[in-house]
Amino acid sequence: MGRLRIGLVGLGKIARDQHLPAIAANPDYVLSAIASRNATLDGVANFPSIEAMLESGVTLDAVSLCTPPRGRFEQAKAAIEAGLHVMLEKPPAAALSDGAALIALAQDRGVTLFATWHSREAAGVEPARAWLATRRIDAVRIVWKEDIRRWHPGQDWILEAGGFGVFDPGINALSIATRILPDPLRLQSATMTVPAGWQGPLAAQLTMTAGMVPVSAEFDFLQTGEQNWDIEVDTDAGTLLLSMGAAVLRLPDQAPQVADDAEYPGLYRRFSELIGRGESDVDLAPLQLVADAFLTGERTTGEPFAW
Ligand code: NAP
Repeated sequence: MGRLRIGLVGLGKIARDQHLPAIAANPDYVLSAIASRNATLDGVANFPSIEAMLESGVTLDAVSLCTPPRGRFEQAKAAIEAGLHVMLEKPPAAALSDGAALIALAQDRGVTLFATWHSREAAGVEPARAWLATRRIDAVRIVWKEDIRRWHPGQDWILEAGGFGVFDPGINALSIATRILPDPLRLQSATMTVPAGWQGPLAAQLTMTAGMVPVSAEFDFLQTGEQNWDIEVDTDAGTLLLSMGAAVLRLPDQAPQVADDAEYPGLYRRFSELIGRGESDVDLAPLQLVADAFLTGERTTGEPFAW
């Protein structure tokens, strides 16, 4: 397989912070084009939309979609129909049926579809999964609290319909929980607070089960001061703690395991491996839980929100 000529769609925060450096550092890829309505990048072909990019005649093997989730289905569909491999930022789509339809489209067209969950690449996730596999799990507590103004300044889309609100970060916690726990998660109840004038919740509390194990999740998008991205798992051998978004793993009676952030390099390595093997990887389980929360959850209207 030669180098993959990749086009990046949606040149925003995550594209600049993580995707561009990860692509530049991986010899499997050459960045060939950018499609973004307002932003451009020197040294590559620039287009105002994915449609313009696909019609331009620029030769591509793959695209990486870094746009907000709403609208991503149409972009992914266009790329798949053009015969390109597609990597999706999380959440993979704004609607569950979009995800299922994309899986079928990619299969029909024989291209790789990779729905990424960057938090699953955090260093603590796989060791936590392995450690938990041989323990009796008694309870799980997720606390995911961050400051929307600090991490998502001015991103109106995140509080609009299809933007997920606090579930935009919260789904990262769910992507980890669905990976490390041996039994599938099921939502029992949810409450959420939606600020007046917006559609996306700024806070949510979920009650779930994994088999017989109670799993609670507390998501807050207005956390100032210390930020929390923690998952605690009580077991018959003591409590496991994943913190800093699973970058740090604390096992009972052991020193904390800390590793450098390598989430996005890991995602791009995996994308090229999947393409090489002719496979796709699309796990909609975290999206399913968020959809269930929106379907069944109780909503309260909160204070108006302004950036
Ligand atoms: P962002 O800064 O708003 O960037 C997204 C870019 O997509 C925008 O700059 C915009 O560029 C383009 N775009 C296309 N259609 C858009 C629309 N309808 N509304 C707004 N922008 C649109 O967002 P981001 O933080 O990079 O997040 C993008 C995706 O990455 C989300 O799914 C998010 O969950 C995920 N993600 C974000 C982070 C993070 O820390 N920010 C971390 C991991 C994953 P043009 O205006 O040039 O078209």
